[in-house]
Amino acid sequence: MMESIDFFYGLLGELAWWQYCLVVVLLTQPTILGVTLYLHREQAHGSIKLHPLVAHFFRFWLWLTTGMKTKEWVAVHRKHHGKCELPDDPHSPEQKGLWRVLFFGVHYYREAARLPSTYEYVRGLRGANLPDDWLERNLYQKRNWLGLKLLLMVYVVLFGIPGLAIWLLQYLWIPIHAAGIINGVGHALGYRNADTRNGDGTNPDASTNIVPWGVWIGGEELHNNHHLYPTSAKFSQRWFEVDIGWGVINCLRLLRLVEVRHVSCLPKVSAKVATDEELLHVFQHHRFLIARWFRRAAERELLTSSLLRDRFEKFMRGRGKDSVTKEQLTEWVAEVRATGKKKLVDFSNKVRRLREYRSHKM
Ligand SMILES: [Zn+2]
Ligand SMILES: [Zn+2]
Repeated sequence: MMESIDFFYGLLGELAWWQYCLVVVLLTQPTILGVTLYLHREQAHGSIKLHPLVAHFFRFWLWLTTGMKTKEWVAVHRKHHGKCELPDDPHSPEQKGLWRVLFFGVHYYREAARLPSTYEYVRGLRGANLPDDWLERNLYQKRNWLGLKLLLMVYVVLFGIPGLAIWLLQYLWIPIHAAGIINGVGHALGYRNADTRNGDGTNPDASTNIVPWGVWIGGEELHNNHHLYPTSAKFSQRWFEVDIGWGVINCLRLLRLVEVRHVSCLPKVSAKVATDEELLHVFQHHRFLIARWFRRAAERELLTSSLLRDRFEKFMRGRGKDSVTKEQLTEWVAEVRATGKKKLVDFSNKVRRLREYRSHKM
């Protein structure tokens, strides 16, 4: 009897249900961190540089638990930023439907990964450093499913038959959370801090912060903040928002295991009026945030159609640096103020006093 029970439950024997839950949560956390810190913040956006040992741990762990390839993930993700909510966006709920992205997110990911044009998005990647060593070529890319097979054997030996369920849950963790929830819900439900647009500014995106506390999916829940500042290592922006990934980055920083390359913070309202140059600088870096403020003020004051609004929408199109001149912006802000409508005057006063909170370079 004893022997058959040991066979069923593996070397570790039978565990309580909560112990199995704990095992799943503990084993999936390095996977989530591998995705958010290594694949996303370091490889796709170059906002951090992990110590080679940490980076390699994540490469190994992602191979072992997901079978995902770094280059493929980075290319598909950068295409998402570039073509957000357009027909070429690999997983836009606006294009494909929320339920489809939620349940078939992996299918859309694979579809994009098969297209040669997707890899245009990793050509000449700045800041990141896609791995291209022997291990990457011969193991992590060529035999990307081998890790999952090995892991299944290890789990069956350790946990017995429940090991199959642990393995399956761990395997499905990223498809459910990243491909489904972040790519689906993170472009459909939640709140927005900024009216973000795609990489070349040609199209508005629908990104949302799913919840303000990014503790379950590594901070990726703050997806609108990420689309606002894609190269920022820190996803939380407002005082009540939490990015657990940024917490882990700070722990790694204490151990000198990561270098933070870029952090963006919301600008602060100062007592002093900014110069025209400062106004233009802040607008160029935070125009999606300012867009949110302006549109809300305009809606509240029923400024639904006007020259002021049309001119602003023109500033928002195209790449930030070239979309507006110092003179055009200064004149526009003054005209918004001259409407005399309270919300718009408040908006104008606020924008004229904005200051960078922290240097963009770390
Ligand atoms: Zn997105
Ligand atoms: Zn991103």
